[in-house]
Amino acid sequence: PGSPLFDLATGRPGSVLDAATVRRDFPILAETIHGRPLIWLDNAATTQKPQSVIDRLSTFYTHENSNIHRAAHTLAARATDAYEAAREKVRRFLGASSVDEIVFVRGATEAINLVAQTWGSATLRAGDEIVVTELEHHANIVPWKRLADAVGAVLRVVPVDDSGQVRLDIYRALLGPRTRLVAMTQVSNALGTVVPVAEMTALAHRVGARVLVDGAQAVSHMAVDVREIKCDWYVFSGHKVFGPTGIGVLYGTGDVLEAMAPWQSGGNMIADVTFERIVYQAPPARFEAGTGNIADAVGLGAALDYVEALGMDAIARHEHGLLDYGTALLRAIPGLRLIGTASDKAGVLSFVFDDIPPLEVGRALDREGIAVRAGHHCAQPILRRFGLEATVRPSLALYNSPSDLDALAAALRRLRVGQP
Ligand code: PLP
Repeated sequence: PGSPLFDLATGRPGSVLDAATVRRDFPILAETIHGRPLIWLDNAATTQKPQSVIDRLSTFYTHENSNIHRAAHTLAARATDAYEAAREKVRRFLGASSVDEIVFVRGATEAINLVAQTWGSATLRAGDEIVVTELEHHANIVPWKRLADAVGAVLRVVPVDDSGQVRLDIYRALLGPRTRLVAMTQVSNALGTVVPVAEMTALAHRVGARVLVDGAQAVSHMAVDVREIKCDWYVFSGHKVFGPTGIGVLYGTGDVLEAMAPWQSGGNMIADVTFERIVYQAPPARFEAGTGNIADAVGLGAALDYVEALGMDAIARHEHGLLDYGTALLRAIPGLRLIGTASDKAGVLSFVFDDIPPLEVGRALDREGIAVRAGHHCAQPILRRFGLEATVRPSLALYNSPSDLDALAAALRRLRVGQP
């Protein structure tokens, strides 16, 4: 830690991100684990928080805390302003056309469940088809499978090739008049594959299907523009983009959200209530029943300010350099097999050893202060596609440096010769 980040494409130190500054922004990166400096390579599970996000939460509770919308006093106005300012930051971050298209939820999982239980259960009928890819996280499989089972619809799965990229030829063939929905990840959490979501969205729309894109693993790695993808819904979790846990986003186009019935019911989502008749609010309030996660939404806004100040394109270039560097390092380790070798990847290096179980590798790395995930990554179907139940998954973020990957590779080599 502390070694300069550098642009691996040009070899110039500091030419993409100022490493020393970036690392200093994340206080947890100064922790020691088992007497070793922490090397955080579990970013696909969750990302660490910059001081600006931690401070923003503290400022909210110190100076602004109130419930929003209802009370007409100064702190209510401050809290409401902060919450709505965060919504505007999300709108800008995603390139949405209106703040009314941004619904705050608990995370990607809740956003997908919301769409499945409102639009999905109102729309899908027996014989209808939902298309997902083989790469999906369980969060983008289970809600659709349950819905399909409940209404007699059919889940169709786009397979991947041996590199872990979706088979577009088979996708095209799967689309048809019964396709109502395509639900797909933009970046695979298990392999790092970047899926061509804009192209796949256009194909889905041609057969009249709606499209939900799971951006949980994309938003910390690349610039996202929902108007370029042209998807109907886009979902992500704040904690995977340097924001707090418990806050996430459902983006939906204005007309799609407007046509959707409410999900949870109660305060905040109604315009008028009598015992005879209820009038709902327009989106996004229609989908935000009860007191939401106000402070964490504000914290998410601070996280988006943080990454935008660094520049998503600079972050993407930095991480691509790291990914190439890490891929070469891991490839050179005897007995190590990389899983997921698509030409377009982001953030993830998944691998197995031919003779050491993933969990053992994970534990050995932890003893050296290196945090990675070892397991099925809540994406069992894609691991089974490669004949596996688990992989070791180092995953990258903007604060990682080549020296983190050097330390990882050195630890893995020591493990291979049995001297962790
Ligand atoms: N989708 C993908 C691709 C993910 O990687 C994850 C989390 O790992 C999720 C959805 C679910 O996110 P959350 O648990 O924050 O709701």
